[in-house]
Amino acid sequence: MSFQNPRIKPIYPLYQLNPEVFRIGAQLGITTEFEDPEKQYWELAKILDGRHIDEVVKEMQTLFPSLTEEDVIGGIELLDSEGVLEEALPEQETQDRYIANVNYFSRFTNTQGNRFDIQRKMNDTRILLLGLGGGGSNILTLLAGLGPKKITIVDYDRVEAGNLGRQFLYRESDIGRLKTEVAEEALSQMNSNIIIESHNKKIVTVEDVLLFTNDVDVVICAIDEPPFIIQRIVNQAIVRAGLPCVFGASQVSRGRVYTVIPRETGCFDCLNLNFSKNDPKFIEQFVGFREINFDPPSIAYGPGIFQLTSGIVDELVRLVTNYAAPRSLGTQYEINYEDGSSFRHPSWPRFPKECPTCGEGNVDDWEIFQYYEGGK
Ligand SMILES: [Zn+2]
Repeated sequence: MSFQNPRIKPIYPLYQLNPEVFRIGAQLGITTEFEDPEKQYWELAKILDGRHIDEVVKEMQTLFPSLTEEDVIGGIELLDSEGVLEEALPEQETQDRYIANVNYFSRFTNTQGNRFDIQRKMNDTRILLLGLGGGGSNILTLLAGLGPKKITIVDYDRVEAGNLGRQFLYRESDIGRLKTEVAEEALSQMNSNIIIESHNKKIVTVEDVLLFTNDVDVVICAIDEPPFIIQRIVNQAIVRAGLPCVFGASQVSRGRVYTVIPRETGCFDCLNLNFSKNDPKFIEQFVGFREINFDPPSIAYGPGIFQLTSGIVDELVRLVTNYAAPRSLGTQYEINYEDGSSFRHPSWPRFPKECPTCGEGNVDDWEIFQYYEGGK
């Protein structure tokens, strides 16, 4: 028994369907139904409002004199195993700006977990955010609400009118200003608890990234130019720094999220190896694509980008807090803006012997790498 002041999670309604059946919860997939003709569980559920366990036992024995203390505790344990209970933790309830996050996290804990700890882990986390464009600027807005300890932001661009359709961190009056400067100002107004460090710099080499990886727990890569090449550079840097990284990129009407934990999951170069081994057209496609020097116009649509950036930030929270399992470890999690669906690509393994970046492999043994530029 780990509970002292168990209660039905306030996020779930408790209601009767008829005198013999009641439910806790109303959302499809997380509603629990109890057949309870003797009404013992119904009464117990009503009493479980955060009062002390001794009072609960006493109250139940008054209503049902034949019940032993073990019976009552067994009933509470059964409800707990259904995931509908939490500890009341009254001293913390007065918190604060993050309380709605905490309530969301309560969905994923029981009386042994502590929903406040999940939020506290976020509050202790230091994040390096690369890029403040369509992805990064909205990611920063979402991060403001999660309140990490520190965010280091890196970008080199200035705000343009064409950004305003999807980069909601910026105002018309910011046009022409450095994105890092505007972002720092905006973030400090959204959440003054967060330490902000901003760097106006274009990331071109692995060393550029490594300038910013000290005092960081996790990285978000929201730069996508030049495609593939920049992901490879950032991947090499985070492997060297030993930092997990959530990568996100948007295509026409789909976005992808994938996460690398150095030396645990396959890295971006392991993905290159995996394609080299398994897709006979991979190199032809890569080279063909590279040779046209494809420079598409911006096709970022705010509602689409929001789906992707939400996926990226939620993945970061999963990675940091483990409130739920990450969805993109060693796999690409793809979000389709057109039909609202999402799916995971086949996962790719880590190649500790063959990968030149996270393993002992040699870069010259793999044809694909000669077609990349920079960060070789
Ligand atoms: Zn690797």
